[in-house]
Amino acid sequence: MDWPAGVIWVIDRLTDAGYEAYAVGGCVRDWLLKRAPVDWDVATCARPDQVRAALDGARVIETGIKHGTLTAIYGGQAVEVTTFRADGAYTDHRRPDEVRFVSSLRADLSRRDFTINAMAMKPGGAPIDYFGGRADLAARAVRAVGRPETRFAEDALRILRALRFAAQLDFTVEPATARALHDMRSELKHVSAERIYSELKRLLVGPGTARVLLGFPEVLAEAAPFGFYDARLVGRLPEDAVLRLAVMMRGGDVRLGLRKLRADNAATGRAELLAALSKRPTPGDARGALTLLRAAGGTEAARDALAIWRAEGRDVDEAQELVEALIRQNACYRLSDLKVNGRDLIALGVPRGPALGSTLEALLDRVMAGETPNERKALLEAARGMKLGMG
Ligand code: ATP
Ligand code: MG
Repeated sequence: MDWPAGVIWVIDRLTDAGYEAYAVGGCVRDWLLKRAPVDWDVATCARPDQVRAALDGARVIETGIKHGTLTAIYGGQAVEVTTFRADGAYTDHRRPDEVRFVSSLRADLSRRDFTINAMAMKPGGAPIDYFGGRADLAARAVRAVGRPETRFAEDALRILRALRFAAQLDFTVEPATARALHDMRSELKHVSAERIYSELKRLLVGPGTARVLLGFPEVLAEAAPFGFYDARLVGRLPEDAVLRLAVMMRGGDVRLGLRKLRADNAATGRAELLAALSKRPTPGDARGALTLLRAAGGTEAARDALAIWRAEGRDVDEAQELVEALIRQNACYRLSDLKVNGRDLIALGVPRGPALGSTLEALLDRVMAGETPNERKALLEAARGMKLGMG
């Protein structure tokens, strides 16, 4: 696996200008694990203005100037460049009050959360590893840098990050780190919902998810209002964070649960829908499959419901066939599938307002029941009959 040209360019430019510069953190971890890094971060002793001068020629964006971070765009690729820093006091348990730029790589690495995330490397060089990160990678263990209690007290999000890395990488949490994060789980209440949600989504879709849920139920309960869930079932569900959250929260108020995590409206609505669908019986005939599609409002949620049922051990082969057959036939199960619309009904003299919607719903019911074909003429006829009935 090759290093991205932009990362090499940034490190070379800074080194040529007389500064120390390394790839650091997650990208080093992933590179050593032969996983493709999500993003590449460079750390340097150069101050932001010095970074800017050394990278003359690249487009540089001030992404986090307060924290000493610039983003260089080289050949269409973004590289985050951050000045070596030591974090100040954490009076609010969340974010350091101030960052202090420092000149030593070691100081910068020591503020990082876990040993596997606290290594630095140059292209072609050996990793610089002050805290035993390589040994922990080999042992597949998540271990805090320094005393775990202190590190979790500084920033309680690390409690969840430890579990996120354990789930995502299929690592274990080293015992002292595990004990500390369990004991300090109530500190999670100081962490913003946005930060929790972002780590939680990743924790829920890794190869180690079920093991983490089984091993740290109290910590998870502190992170979000889950209620009762079957951790092994969660591990068998499709790797889809919102779908898994829906199943984990379906014993309680899913909408409230996702609102508390400050999830976006689309995720909240989808989770609520999937939780409700998951409680329905498995359709046994075409009529039932059609009703499922209607309740799901589309093919995607219907297929998600089938996947949830399958993971639960229900026999869904036949239901799946029925649903897929209806999808292939472009079956009518939404108002928008009807061959007439609101305008047609207004032309017939149906008044605007609730009557319009309920007439369309009634037509859909008839079509889905096989009483009226989904054809314009037949539908207008049926609507006329209903109007007479109403009048
Ligand atoms: P990913 O592959 O998900 O990007 P990552 O390890 O790169 O994982 P980031 O959140 O991108 O995680 O953070 C980059 C690096 O910054 C981490 O590897 C770690 O060294 C450091 N870091 C991030 N968050 C914290 C934190 N809350 N406390 C201490 N160090 C942190
Ligand atoms: Mg990263």
